[in-house]
Amino acid sequence: MKKIVVLGAGYAGLKTVVALQKKVRGQAQITLVDQNDYHYEATDLHEVASGNLPASKITYPIQDVLNSETTTFIQDRVVKVDPATKTVKLTHHDDLTYDYCVMALGFVSENFGIKGATENSLPMASVEEAKAIHEHLVNKMKDYQRTQDKNDLKIIICGAGFTGIELAGALADAKRRLAKIAGVDPSQISITLVDAASRLLPMFDDKLANYGVNLLKKLDIKIVSEALISEIQPGLVLYKKKGEDDDAQLHDVAANTIIWTTGVSGSPVVSDSDLPARRGRVMDTDHLTAPDDDDLYMVGDVAAVMPPDGKRPYPTTAQIALSMANYAAKDIAARVKGGQRPGKYTYKSLGTVASVGNTRAFGVAMGGHYRGYPASFIKKMIMNKSLFETGGVKELMAKGRFDLYH
Ligand SMILES: Cc1cc2nc3c(=O)[nH]c(=O)nc-3n(C[C@H](O)[C@H](O)[C@H](O)COP(=O)(O)OP(=O)(O)OC[C@H]3O[C@@H](n4cnc5c(N)ncnc54)[C@H](O)[C@@H]3O)c2cc1C
Repeated sequence: MKKIVVLGAGYAGLKTVVALQKKVRGQAQITLVDQNDYHYEATDLHEVASGNLPASKITYPIQDVLNSETTTFIQDRVVKVDPATKTVKLTHHDDLTYDYCVMALGFVSENFGIKGATENSLPMASVEEAKAIHEHLVNKMKDYQRTQDKNDLKIIICGAGFTGIELAGALADAKRRLAKIAGVDPSQISITLVDAASRLLPMFDDKLANYGVNLLKKLDIKIVSEALISEIQPGLVLYKKKGEDDDAQLHDVAANTIIWTTGVSGSPVVSDSDLPARRGRVMDTDHLTAPDDDDLYMVGDVAAVMPPDGKRPYPTTAQIALSMANYAAKDIAARVKGGQRPGKYTYKSLGTVASVGNTRAFGVAMGGHYRGYPASFIKKMIMNKSLFETGGVKELMAKGRFDLYH
């Protein structure tokens, strides 16, 4: 019986297992490893960070979707993979050996070596980190009652990419609740996005990007653009404006909550395993395997896949992670059964929709441009589809977003 080891139970890993279980029953044994005993919808982390949703609403037990005849679950941290001996090293369990390994360990926050970023700002790349942000915010609001320090009411988000903007929108929705804790009017809580770009939202055309920026402004979210962050000190973001001399005096913006969403890289396990990677991402072969190792599949945020134009890899998203997982499961099943392998992996994006709070969104889906409530409706449908793909009907009914009428 073939041994398949899947590392990570996020979108890519769990979808691989769910799809494989049906295809290789009785012909292979699957072992799934994750550091948590729950799966989480990473695309909803900002809802937990803002306190708009409890962590329980974006998580479910991994065991819920496993078939115990085919799959064994191990809760542990993966340390490294040794492709030469086909071995996976875990923190607390014995080494695992495999015929096929699927690495799907996802992303971590990337600080780009900026001084003080790790020590003085809060990342948002896991449920624990999202919960820590919310706890910090609540504490700052409580502190304000005692200190009357206006910086306790200020929130800075470093990085106005997709994640930073979705977080800012969710925090705008949370203002009323946070203000109540501080005993102030919601208008006294400020949210500032700081980003190096001159033009935000590069994934959208000018019209849609302008719509997004105006939406943020309407919600009183300040945007400091063309700001090259050089250092984070406790309660202070220091930056240089684009085009300014190296020795020009730095600008600063103060807040007692500084959240870091400038970007992500693939799991550090990738470099610890000596795999050839850039920012923790391995450039996949046509069959989504690591170069020179056809038995090690790299899927989701630990992988880079080049579109046919060969210019830049596809952005890492939950959408492509699920698509890669489907392909990997099909390819592995064909090999286990000794059948013909599928042709090379191809990907077609279904679109991108950004939420700005619970009832506002904008983006492109199914070839059309959407704004406002229709976009918000589509966004929730997309999230429900992702949830259904790993969790099936049971998790969709329990955790899906059906608050569609506002
Ligand atoms: C706020 C936010 C909003 C987003 N919005 C969207 C969106 O609207 N649409 C979209 O398509 N994408 C979105 N994304 C991106 C998307 O979430 C990621 O691309 C996706 O989660 C990647 O899936 P994955 O399976 O590779 O990794 P993950 O979902 O990160 O899963 C990785 C898994 O590996 C486990 N793990 C990690 N390290 C170890 C270890 N050493 N040992 C054991 N287990 C480990 C983790 O616990 C986790 O279960 C968003 C991301 C964020 C943060």
